[in-house]
Amino acid sequence: MGQQPPYLDPALPVADRVTDLLGRMTLPEKVGQMLQLNAKEGVRHLVEDLHAGSILHASPERVLEAAALTAETRLRIPLLVAEDCIHGHSFWEGATIYPTQLGMAATWDAGLVERIARATAVEVAATGVHWTFSPVLCITRDLRWGRVSETFGEDPYLIGELASAMVRGYQGDGLDDPTAILACAKHFAGYSETQGGRDASEADISRRKLRSWFLPPFERVAEEGCRTFMLGYQSMDGVPITVNEWLLGEVLRGEWGYTGTLVTDWDNVGRMVWEQKIYADYAQASAAAVRAGNDMVMTTSKFFEGAQEAVAEGMLTEAEIDAAVRRILTLKFELGLFENPRHPDPARQTAFIGSSAHAALNLEAARRSLVLLTNDGTLPFAGGLEANGGGRATGPGPRTVAVVGPNADDAQTQLGDWAGSSGQADWLPDGQPRAMIRTVLDGFREKVPADWTVSYAPGARILDVGPDPEGEFFPDGQPRPEVVIPAAPDPAMVAEAVAAAEAADHVVAVVGDRIELIGEGKSTATLELVGDQVALLDALAATGKPLVVVVISSKPLVLPPSALGAAAIVYAANPGMLGGTAVAELLLGLIEPTGRLPLSFARHAGQQPTYYNQVRGQHGTRYADLTQSPAFAFGEGLSYTTVTYTGLELLTGVVEPDGTVRALVTLTNTGSRPALETLQVYVSDTVTSVTWAEKELKAYEQVTLEPGESRHVSIELPVSVCTLVDARGHRVVEPGRFELLVGPSSRDEALLRAEFTVKG
Ligand code: BGC
Repeated sequence: MGQQPPYLDPALPVADRVTDLLGRMTLPEKVGQMLQLNAKEGVRHLVEDLHAGSILHASPERVLEAAALTAETRLRIPLLVAEDCIHGHSFWEGATIYPTQLGMAATWDAGLVERIARATAVEVAATGVHWTFSPVLCITRDLRWGRVSETFGEDPYLIGELASAMVRGYQGDGLDDPTAILACAKHFAGYSETQGGRDASEADISRRKLRSWFLPPFERVAEEGCRTFMLGYQSMDGVPITVNEWLLGEVLRGEWGYTGTLVTDWDNVGRMVWEQKIYADYAQASAAAVRAGNDMVMTTSKFFEGAQEAVAEGMLTEAEIDAAVRRILTLKFELGLFENPRHPDPARQTAFIGSSAHAALNLEAARRSLVLLTNDGTLPFAGGLEANGGGRATGPGPRTVAVVGPNADDAQTQLGDWAGSSGQADWLPDGQPRAMIRTVLDGFREKVPADWTVSYAPGARILDVGPDPEGEFFPDGQPRPEVVIPAAPDPAMVAEAVAAAEAADHVVAVVGDRIELIGEGKSTATLELVGDQVALLDALAATGKPLVVVVISSKPLVLPPSALGAAAIVYAANPGMLGGTAVAELLLGLIEPTGRLPLSFARHAGQQPTYYNQVRGQHGTRYADLTQSPAFAFGEGLSYTTVTYTGLELLTGVVEPDGTVRALVTLTNTGSRPALETLQVYVSDTVTSVTWAEKELKAYEQVTLEPGESRHVSIELPVSVCTLVDARGHRVVEPGRFELLVGPSSRDEALLRAEFTVKG
């Protein structure tokens, strides 16, 4: 037996092992190491011919096949296996699928989000996947964008809090922990600043605007040690992110000192040739991408020849490729993959995937994600029921609940994007196991008192799909999504739901959107309820029965007057496998509503954008034909009780620039049910050297209050967070007068105000 090469010796420092291995690699092997390729069409060619360093979208069988093939390669460099496990192990049959990121954001609970990410990592790591493309740090701006459900909403501070929690959860106690997976902050940066909500359109965004709102969450997770960043699709000021040397070089690697790994988004390098058309060929595009600091190139297989050609023609040096490969190999050594390639582990899969502990966590998340938007007292039903030992409600005698609407019993739709049969993976055509999912109808059947009756009628269809008139495939061979055709009215279906409502004591209409209206390349022109849903709600409202509207959707939709005037509205951003149980429990009063909106609901698509933290300075506050005020604002959400805020008092009226603002406020639960109140702290800088947002969220705290209980809550805010980005792009605190705004939502009328001064 020959002597082991030094790179296989775990006793040596990582840097030495990398240097040794790099010295043994040919140029094709190095270029291949930079490739992350799509495993859907087979892996042999990727491993044997292209020397791929990483694969993504590998079915469970392909993960095993790729591992076996890698073990036969000359240098036996382990593969990094990546997947979009963005709200659970999305495409693993039987994995726990949690609420979407937007649903998680509605909990405003970073600890809970961290636990979800940890539990997800435990499931993912057991399947031979090392890297998740999560969290998404894009800020929701235009609600027509198809990817709103992947975000934590519209506020940079809340996004930073939740995203860093998620990174901690995924990466666990350190990469040498075999249940740790790599987190990936995406899409760096500005991708969500769309034009008209169109996916990946040129983002009209200045460096100052980036620094003001888009970059802070990324800086936060970079500090948190997020090991990888994914670069967005879009260009800004004419420059695709992939080659934005200012953003990647100066800011990320320079100012922030980021040493992690950068991965492009899907075929970003190719897109610069065939879509954005800023390079004539793959050699030029590959050279530019390497030079700008990209480490891993996702799905551009032509990078393999392109980069080699660039070296041959002197456009790129091998040393520049070495720098990227060094970072990739370092990551692999730090994960310990050379010693333990972390292949699928059937015993751990059986123990952890879809375990009852994870289901309990999922139910907790679903419960916490629900936002009660309006309530005239109809909820909770029957004044609120108690659960018996088995979790079923006990009640005041027989009643009937009519559960109607197209999303009342649509299991896969409830899960939203990036899950099961949502379209990104082709090995789960039927989605996640139906038996693991509880729709709203299931939830009521399981939770109502034993002598209640639950009736059901879908009431309306949402849509049909047809081929895109522009052709079946995009130029890169990716299939074009089918186009949506709103479902034709069906009076018989509406009549059936109305009859069920008329015969019932309680009426629940579950409406929303469907996967065909969600996701990449599936932005919507409108935000209306599609198909016959508005007709259904109108007909139900006309019965005069108190109507509870539950919206299960990927993003805030424009609700018709019949919904806005209904007895109650509950928003359930795709609430995960156990969302239906949580909805039933909430309506029956077995749990309290605690979710708060992480983004605003528009009254009309033409109000876009509706985010609360807009820059001061337009003429007036309304359109000639409509208010600009959103239907429901960032931070809003009701409880079954009432909580008052009184006596906001500043303990420090004048503060030093390096000081802390201290205040007290009293919260009182004035109703008869317990509350988990989300106290929100905003700051308004009264005079700024540049135009700035009228107010910004700077802190929040979740406070439990028993009926009748009062609590003094102290607020401490370092002055160093009261910043703006000045005209030169520097984040500074400008001395002078500020207002501290404290209350239950971002609505001005809901906030108490107190003034403080920061000394010059
Ligand atoms: C998306 C990314 C995703 C990647 C891999 C891209 O189209 O923009 O968010 O991680 O595909 O699936």
